[in-house]
Amino acid sequence: MEIAKIGEFGLIDRLTQDIKPQNTSTKYGVGDDCAVLHYPDSEVLVTTDMLMEGVHFDLTYIDLQHLGWKSAMVNISDIFAMNGTPRQMTVSLALSKRFTVEDVEQFYSGLRMACDKWGVDIVGGDTTSSYTGLAISITCIGEARKEDIVYRNGAKETDLVCVSGDLGAAYMGLQLLEREKSVYYQMVDEAKRKAVTVPDGSPSVHIPDFQPDFAGKEYLLQRQLKTEARGDIINKLREAGIHPTAMMDISDGLSSELMHICKQSHVGCRIFEKQIPIDYQTAVMAEELNMNVTTCALNGGEDYELLFTVPIGDHEKIEQMEDVKLIGHITKESLGHVLVTRDNQEFELKAQGWTMEKAE
Ligand SMILES: [Mg+2]
Repeated sequence: MEIAKIGEFGLIDRLTQDIKPQNTSTKYGVGDDCAVLHYPDSEVLVTTDMLMEGVHFDLTYIDLQHLGWKSAMVNISDIFAMNGTPRQMTVSLALSKRFTVEDVEQFYSGLRMACDKWGVDIVGGDTTSSYTGLAISITCIGEARKEDIVYRNGAKETDLVCVSGDLGAAYMGLQLLEREKSVYYQMVDEAKRKAVTVPDGSPSVHIPDFQPDFAGKEYLLQRQLKTEARGDIINKLREAGIHPTAMMDISDGLSSELMHICKQSHVGCRIFEKQIPIDYQTAVMAEELNMNVTTCALNGGEDYELLFTVPIGDHEKIEQMEDVKLIGHITKESLGHVLVTRDNQEFELKAQGWTMEKAE
């Protein structure tokens, strides 16, 4: 169904008619000029993210339901990265004519599944038309007690550097999708070359069925398309009585996020290549593409794992935590950002990768 048929208000009604707020902080959700939120005793966390078709996503390999899920999760992840609890979300979309009512409903179904997973209320948004495809702007609001908030600037010398999950898989998933997309386009080009002109003058192009080859690489696809915000890790840290000194989520790659924490905390770091958690499928894919798997883990991005530092006294607790890996420690600022390789060489970490110059 064309969106014009039901209009903007009709569309919003359809998308929001059965949304019921779950949080007591949501005093009033969709349906007035503003949503009304009430946080008498908490600090309020606000994060926003804009995603543009052709820049941040490609609809040839992500469907709208996954895109809705991912758009919500990346925002929710930022609230967790402050050690907060996500509560509300606003969603704004600019849509070109090629999107139907059903398309937007697909997007919303993914978005709502992600919100339901973490108890987030959709409290507003906007839809408008676009000439150039799809643009998505999402704002997530969360809360935390003042003393619970974890900033990027609290890392101290001797603190331990930890990451959740494993790294580089989302990036390898993207490489896999791009590879299969180019295989598909080669096939289409080939079919066009072989096209014969039929009597009515139009060329008949027969495009054979295309089955992308994802066998044995499902985890990589999942990591790229079905992003998870690590609220489970936040809960586990809380249960274990661990309060990170600095934390952020890994959206741009471990290397650049580590530099952010070090810069803002005025410290250096020393991390160990052999400690960086990498999944088997990530390693296999890197090998296939002739890429260095550590570089992929350091710079890949879109993992949305948590990078955090804890006092050295929490060493044992961290060692016992499932799905958290100790990768190094915080040093004096003057010692720089050092990666110790498997063969014990030291390199200076850069925001993008590490240079092959030996660290002093
Ligand atoms: Mg972030």
